[in-house]
Amino acid sequence: MLDAEFFRRWMTTSAASVDREADRLTALDSPIGDADHGTNLHRGFKAVTAALEKETPGTPGAVLTLAGRQLISTVGGASGPLYGTLLRRTGKALGDATEVSPEQLAEALRAGVDAVMTLGGATPGDKTMVDALVPAVDALAESFAAARSAAEEGALATTPLQARKGRASYLGERSIGHQDPGATSSALLIAALAEVADE
Ligand code: ADP
Ligand code: MG
Repeated sequence: MLDAEFFRRWMTTSAASVDREADRLTALDSPIGDADHGTNLHRGFKAVTAALEKETPGTPGAVLTLAGRQLISTVGGASGPLYGTLLRRTGKALGDATEVSPEQLAEALRAGVDAVMTLGGATPGDKTMVDALVPAVDALAESFAAARSAAEEGALATTPLQARKGRASYLGERSIGHQDPGATSSALLIAALAEVADE
């Protein structure tokens, strides 16, 4: 079973990964965006870590809801409200249980990803974070490791796609040939989840 501490570690491990990879995320956002994705997420996850140090949410749902709120209030770009919605909706779906099963997490994350698609209007193949998140949630029924591989493959598979949502879509065909920054950061968050599950 997964408790609040597991979810806190997922968020802090994600923050550490975003910290390490911020420059790469910003570099990916340079040819098909405005070169701020790493900076945006770094600011957001720093706030998440700070909030989790100050408050000690007692349930998995409360950890994710708090983290999502921080992302929405501190990240200026499109990714802030989208990731914030992902975490808040997932947290809401977990309810006030003090422990949840991996199956319950998979189901809740599905609700979170659905909320991201509703908010942003993107579906798989539009070259967004959805291209990593949907395969990850599909594979989570199998294992955390399978979800990590699926998210990484999903992120890599955005390279030949033409963007149909977000800033990159303004480039039309010129968005082809570049990996999507948001799909890349989504793969980092799922890798952090698998890493914490491994411990
Ligand atoms: P901004 O585009 O406002 O500068 P970021 O650079 O932080 O925001 O995030 C860009 C990422 O957000 C994209 O790479 C893409 O994955 C994701 N994104 C943008 N718009 C959408 C959308 N409508 N639906 C899903 N994801 C989106
Ligand atoms: Mg950007």
